[in-house]
Amino acid sequence: MRVDILTLFPEMFSGYLSSSIMDKARTLQLLDVHLQDIRDYAEGKHRITDEPPYGGGGGMILKPEPIFAAVESLIGESKMNQPGVGSSGVDDEVSDDKNERQSGIPVILLTPQGRRFSQDVAWELSRNERMILICGRYEGVDERVREHLATDELSIGDYVMTGGELAAMVVVDAVTRLIPGVLGAEGAAESDSYAGGLLEGPHYSRPQSFRGWTVPEVLTSGHAAEIQRWRRQQALRRTWRRRPDLLLKADLSEDDKYYLAVLAEERIDELSDD
Ligand code: SAM
Repeated sequence: MRVDILTLFPEMFSGYLSSSIMDKARTLQLLDVHLQDIRDYAEGKHRITDEPPYGGGGGMILKPEPIFAAVESLIGESKMNQPGVGSSGVDDEVSDDKNERQSGIPVILLTPQGRRFSQDVAWELSRNERMILICGRYEGVDERVREHLATDELSIGDYVMTGGELAAMVVVDAVTRLIPGVLGAEGAAESDSYAGGLLEGPHYSRPQSFRGWTVPEVLTSGHAAEIQRWRRQQALRRTWRRRPDLLLKADLSEDDKYYLAVLAEERIDELSDD
């Protein structure tokens, strides 16, 4: 997957992208990140990228021209979104019209006002061969970028950060580990939390006893089926206690439902500090 990240601070990404799984994905040519300095697309002697807001108020706003220029040069489509061609400009959700009119490459504005990023969204994005991420800064980005350029808006949570760079890294990381071949079989994303609609259960490693706290016996029993059953039950139990909302949408077997009924009956939450 090729990811273009538009940012005023490209240097922020180098450490993260050069480490661990991100580095492996790039080495395997499964991830190809292009950091686009928004300033490089700004015109004029001073390459100005931000201006004070019309109407007054504090902070600076990222100007639309360099961001449009960057995206258009990446997509190779300078006529996109002329007035009358694209969206209505009405303040609403990202419209189908907006999504359809493009090259098919998602142009994602990182914003605390966007739809919430989740594992489902990560799966959705991982099916693309390319995506373009726009990192805001200061007070945010000129509204015309949202209205006429972005095909999607993502928030990584209900809090406000100083810029979109961390949000972009979160998206790139979560999406990259879903690209086939990035994780080894032993770290397959399918067993992670959220993948099957549940939180994952606990993990243990050596030593078998640490400060008197021992590993659950079943895990050292060698009985594969028992271990699998225990793991499933731990995942159900953990989800039930921490995120019961997930159970409403999870794919549950009859055994799962029975186990959950037992949990509810035993009020196991009061007996455990899990
Ligand atoms: N004034 C804006 C508002 O109230 O919605 C917040 C601007 S924020 C200080 C600057 C930039 O950080 C945003 O344009 C966005 O790119 C990024 N950002 C901040 N919080 C974010 C979040 N939760 N998710 C995604 N991006 C975020």
